Amino acid sequence: MQPGDIRIPAAELINFGTAALTKAGARASDARLVADHLVMANLTGHDSHGIGLLPAYVKHAVDGLVDVKATPEILHDNGAILKVAGHDAWGRMAGEFAMTAAFPKAEELGVCAVTLSNAHHLGRIGAYGEMAANAGFSAIFFVNVTDHDPMVAPYQGTDARFGTNPVCIALPPTGTKPAFLLDMATSRIAMGKARVAANKGLRVPFGAILDENGLPTDDPSGFKGFEQKGALAPFGDHKGYGLAFAAELLAGVYSGGGTIQPGNERRGGIRNQMIAVIMQPDAFGDAETMERETDAMWEYALASPPADWDSPVVAPGDPERSLRARRSSEGVPMDPETLKQLNAAAEAVGIEGRLGF
Ligand code: NAD
Repeated sequence: MQPGDIRIPAAELINFGTAALTKAGARASDARLVADHLVMANLTGHDSHGIGLLPAYVKHAVDGLVDVKATPEILHDNGAILKVAGHDAWGRMAGEFAMTAAFPKAEELGVCAVTLSNAHHLGRIGAYGEMAANAGFSAIFFVNVTDHDPMVAPYQGTDARFGTNPVCIALPPTGTKPAFLLDMATSRIAMGKARVAANKGLRVPFGAILDENGLPTDDPSGFKGFEQKGALAPFGDHKGYGLAFAAELLAGVYSGGGTIQPGNERRGGIRNQMIAVIMQPDAFGDAETMERETDAMWEYALASPPADWDSPVVAPGDPERSLRARRSSEGVPMDPETLKQLNAAAEAVGIEGRLGF
């Protein structure tokens, strides 16, 4: 929460997003699902993937960069392999479609590798990780981003050649521990975090961004609104870069949707390709023994004496869980610039009510 921010209840944001997306042409049920998905990202603390993306989504719907009437389709179903075509449908819908198709196969076979091509923006990938974990599965996701100019520079490069290509690993809760949920962009900061920092006039960690000349900086102003001047850096130098590259190859090539290389079209939308390996834990060993070992490892890792006693060691997924509880009761903090962008997007499709007034 920054000076000048106001808190808005999640339900109000969902209703506002639903109305704007419906006016932009989305089916009412899809509009609600997509708006809910965006606001859930805000509730979990990922404002980069939250309702601040509404102006882009509305524009994509109006410009035909998302097919608001499309339905995803299973293209290939052979043993443990499923291939789903997103047909440019809303990412949230396409992602859930792929999960719902894969779960019964993972239940039956112990494992299912499902690919998804040409979905509109999938948003927070952890949402699909949570679907898997809540249904009792473990899952590994690699995602690439196409239809868009690249955003992330390769390690030792000076211009953008990759998307922010997220990786997510989810494991189901045990009797005593919550789900493990590692969900991260392979850029040092997510694109939307640069946008949010620029909108708020804040700095980012030095080196998280390369300027237009390829030099490291802490100034995100080239990412204000939906502009992009410069590039994001990969996290962890060659390691994050390696994972981003792997996501292009596994998600982009295996799904058939393609990579971000310039031979593929870039209309200015956002398309995601995904590969997810869904695993039924019981197929790997005795459930009780596995849970006991999982719990012991959680306890061991989290018992490390904290470097700062105000910031104890937590598990991946814990920060989102605690923020979700807090923001669900206190509301979602919104900065004036993002509010302005949301209201302008709503006005453009004929919505009369304004957020924040
Ligand atoms: P982040 O850096 O905030 O968090 C990354 C992971 O680290 C999370 O799993 C989180 O639980 C964990 N974590 C954070 N602090 C921790 C701590 N102190 N101890 C232990 N674990 C901790 O996330 P990000 O990289 O900024 O990604 C933001 C979101 O953007 C993700 O949901 C991602 O899926 C999404 N994304 C989507 C796309 C797309 O094209 N659809 C592209 C990029 C990113």
